[in-house]
Amino acid sequence: MTSQRTRDRLVERLRAKGITDERVLEVMRTTPRHLFIDEALAHRAYEDSSLPIGQGQTISQPYIVAKMTEVLLQPGIPDVVLEVGTGSGYQSAVLSRLVPKVYSVERISGLLDRARRCHQAIGLRNIYTRHTGGVWGWPDHAPYPAIIVTAAPEHVPESLLEQLALGGRMVVPVGTFAGDQMLKVITRTATGFDEQTLDAVHFVPLLDGSIR
Ligand code: SAH
Repeated sequence: MTSQRTRDRLVERLRAKGITDERVLEVMRTTPRHLFIDEALAHRAYEDSSLPIGQGQTISQPYIVAKMTEVLLQPGIPDVVLEVGTGSGYQSAVLSRLVPKVYSVERISGLLDRARRCHQAIGLRNIYTRHTGGVWGWPDHAPYPAIIVTAAPEHVPESLLEQLALGGRMVVPVGTFAGDQMLKVITRTATGFDEQTLDAVHFVPLLDGSIR
């Protein structure tokens, strides 16, 4: 169920769906997604689907993780990335194997504790996490050359845009309803922000405030 063959099959599927970055495909093939999921669902870990992780949240579909990672790294590998929405910790684990330093924030502390334990268990030491409440992102370490938002705002919060470095890019799902939510790439230029729209997606909402 969690065998190498099952993982290879997932990678073939990602390739068929248009993922071409070999670095990303290799990391997707070798990151143990089953460890980020409840044991009862682990047998579905290498299916290309999102799965519940408790507290009404989900681990993203592997295709979307690969796509967002590929798009984020397309201009070159940044030295640091900020993820908003740690969730299971799987996306940050994937990023940590490609980018020297990963910052990740989560508003539900129970999920964050579990994600941290997973990162420790598989020996990932370049992921720095924080439980956030009432602030967007992690302004202390800003500006970031790359930001990935894994929950959907209706409009990207201004204070999150401010954390993007000049020339930096943010990959973010924008919109509230299934059907109107689109994956966007926002680049900070000398004069403002450039916006590019990619696939239709379906993420849980980006919310204000923290909870236990
Ligand atoms: N990247 C995750 C997917 C997370 S689902 C993974 O690989 O599993 C989205 C997560 O964003 C949820 O855990 C949710 O609690 C969190 N979230 C929502 N609003 C947030 C906010 N304002 N700041 C930080 N995390 C937030």
